[in-house]
Amino acid sequence: MYVYEPLKFVESIAFPRFGGTAEEKRAAEIIKAETEKMGGCSVLEEFTVPASEYKSHCAKVIAPFEMDLNVVPFQCCGTINKDLKVMYAERCVEMDLIGIKDLSDTVVIINQLNIDAYKLLAKLNAAAIFVVMGKYYHETNADAGMYERPAREKYLEYATIPTFFIHAREATDLLRNGAEMLHVELDQVDGTTTSQNVVATIEGTEMPEEHIVVTGHYDSLTLAPGAWDNATGSAAVMGIYNYFLANKPKRTMHFIWCGTEEQGLLGSKGWIEKHEDIMDKVKFCFNFDMCGTILGPNNVFVTGTKELEDFAELFCKEQGYSAQFRKGVHSSDSAPFADKGVPGIGLSRGTQTSEIHTSRDTMFPLGEKQLKMNIDFANKMISRVVNSAVLPVEKGMPDNIKKELDKYFQRDK
Ligand SMILES: [Zn+2]
Repeated sequence: MYVYEPLKFVESIAFPRFGGTAEEKRAAEIIKAETEKMGGCSVLEEFTVPASEYKSHCAKVIAPFEMDLNVVPFQCCGTINKDLKVMYAERCVEMDLIGIKDLSDTVVIINQLNIDAYKLLAKLNAAAIFVVMGKYYHETNADAGMYERPAREKYLEYATIPTFFIHAREATDLLRNGAEMLHVELDQVDGTTTSQNVVATIEGTEMPEEHIVVTGHYDSLTLAPGAWDNATGSAAVMGIYNYFLANKPKRTMHFIWCGTEEQGLLGSKGWIEKHEDIMDKVKFCFNFDMCGTILGPNNVFVTGTKELEDFAELFCKEQGYSAQFRKGVHSSDSAPFADKGVPGIGLSRGTQTSEIHTSRDTMFPLGEKQLKMNIDFANKMISRVVNSAVLPVEKGMPDNIKKELDKYFQRDK
């Protein structure tokens, strides 16, 4: 007889599975196979994501001394082959760039990449950007968080600037030794590739016209096995699917294992775009991003009205479920749904003692008992909502969350 074992399932997809790659597709096939093993069925729904065909890159100091630089280029940010001046723009705000009119012969080193910094550098025609990453003592690029990823589309609206991560150690050395000229090369062909969501649906027995989505992304970053982030959330969605296959819900449920979340929530956005015709029926979103760590605490993310916060807090009290509450927009697949007015609850569990987005996101910090606890609680809370006579809250977002969403999706610029 089939028995679902969530931690084993986590292990089965705990390999690097960057959105749009063959490894991500392999993880999607494993997810689909598991839904079939438990007597359900699912489909792969494809969508397009930006990607580059990488050819080569190099960066080195050429004057007044010579030094090779360890940099990792972003995808989809154009090409370059130039000798450039170098400058360090500490916070990359106007104050750091007083009197500068043009940076078309300069590579700019910055500490943090954000839309305001990028916009400013686009205005000044910066030739290239180096973003400092990691701690000076990190031994590998993986530990320093220097992974390939596409430049954000939102940024590219301002300009296509070849952008690289540079290791903190080398950025420090380069400035300490007074580097003046760099040679920077990047050769790649920018284009697109295919990613996919895995989607299963259970028709509601009494109110099939009202829909609830259960989301969790299954992709990871280039060098990250992504066990905690987010094989565990994928395993939670699977556990919930398993439960509702046996306990038919009154409302219709869509289980969405989202692809390419790490590159800008592209899977959940893709699902919404593809299913625009039923979006008015989607009334609630439960999202799972990182669960099952042995050390805690549990987290509950609430995106919606005060009424929704009260519902979630009361339900936790009733169940004796100890959790830390976070209110507002959750940077995960529930956000594009919130943007369509769909109230969201995210159930997760986390510890400061572990890390994500690096090669250290392994099975070590995870526990079967804790993952099952997260899934059991989710099943209770989701049952309460999906089977309620009237949903606990209506669709729609309060003004403060709408503002937060504008900021999150960078529409306030
Ligand atoms: Zn995640």
